Amino acid sequence: MMNWRRLLRISNRSFLAFIFFFSMSTSCLYFIYVAPGIANTYYFMVQAQGMMLRDNVRTIGHMIRLYTNKNSTLNGTDYPDGNNSSEYIIHPTTYLPENFTIAHDLPCPEKLPSMKGNINVNMTEIPMEEIQLIFPKHLHIQSGGHWKPNDCRPRWKVAVLIPFRNRREHLPILFQHLVPMLQRQRLQFAFYIIEQTGTQPFNRAMLFNVGFKEAMKDLDWDCLVFHDVDHIPENDRNYYGCGQMPRHFAAKLDKYMYILPYSEFFGGVSGLTVEQFRKINGFPNAFWGWGGEDDDLWNRVHYAGLNVTRPEGDIGKYKSIPHHHRGEVQFLGRYKLLRYSKERQHLDGLNNLNYTPKITLCSLFKNITVNLSPELAPVEDY
Ligand code: UDP
Ligand code: MN
Repeated sequence: MMNWRRLLRISNRSFLAFIFFFSMSTSCLYFIYVAPGIANTYYFMVQAQGMMLRDNVRTIGHMIRLYTNKNSTLNGTDYPDGNNSSEYIIHPTTYLPENFTIAHDLPCPEKLPSMKGNINVNMTEIPMEEIQLIFPKHLHIQSGGHWKPNDCRPRWKVAVLIPFRNRREHLPILFQHLVPMLQRQRLQFAFYIIEQTGTQPFNRAMLFNVGFKEAMKDLDWDCLVFHDVDHIPENDRNYYGCGQMPRHFAAKLDKYMYILPYSEFFGGVSGLTVEQFRKINGFPNAFWGWGGEDDDLWNRVHYAGLNVTRPEGDIGKYKSIPHHHRGEVQFLGRYKLLRYSKERQHLDGLNNLNYTPKITLCSLFKNITVNLSPELAPVEDY
């Protein structure tokens, strides 16, 4: 047989080098494209180390300055070099006292004594049947996961929307933490699991749009919470009601070392009033696969003249249920779409979406199953 390598004048060494670089680049591509979460998490961890180091140096510098200026003109609240003093001041939060009694016909307070702060997060997997038996009976949850307080008037009617595919084991863990927390916050609530079927890449944003439209058929909800299934709140003072401005609840994630990955980050758990959500034309429908849809929502909110608020300090802490990105792909077209957020905002969203749902009412949530594909949300040229 002819030696084709000799024929092409390729030396053994360059052949080996070629094999080496080829395998290196394919494994890199694998990480970037097929396992997006892992690649991004590692990238972030490297960045976060730098951020934490800089923060520590700043704090140490600040302490030294405080110490050396101890006997000079400072009164403890202002800093000579224009440092932002508010970063170092812990804001007092006033929660109602233990003996406070709430009134039947008055709005439920936002800072109840039952909201103690830290939640003990337990990631142990439990069967869904177990909490399906316990919760309706002991926590008085009605079908669809519906509950409302009877000792005061709920301040918000909250529809909790959860995008879903193939993460069955996460559901009971989430409910186990969320239901008692929302009850302590005296909110009226129900859960909607919007499950994607079909062969298309996952579309978190489009599922939220479907969930919104379906939820509004049930009840006149006034507040929407968009909740990843794998995000468990660590603090029950993270009040899931809405406000004057859209809210980003998941400000500090354990997987991001409790640092906001970038100031425009709007992923994980967010909340908008129905009015705000309609004003921004909902989520975009054009993000197929992992990434970008939350950044587009951030852009939409700001183009509509709104701002985002976040819980203070450690209140916005979350733990993520560890999982593998089974068969998920990164959405590489997101950067291009994000450049045209403004132009697309009124062409793609709630107003161009068609779908045919399959609905099942379960004891702890309403399940909305949809087969999604791009034809369901046609977009005119922009
Ligand atoms: N999701 C899902 N199945 C999937 C992909 C995503 O249920 O195959 C939902 C789930 O609610 C998840 C959210 O979409 O929490 C965000 O996806 P993922 O957790 O993969 O993103 P990451 O947290 O890594 O950014
Ligand atoms: Mn996740």
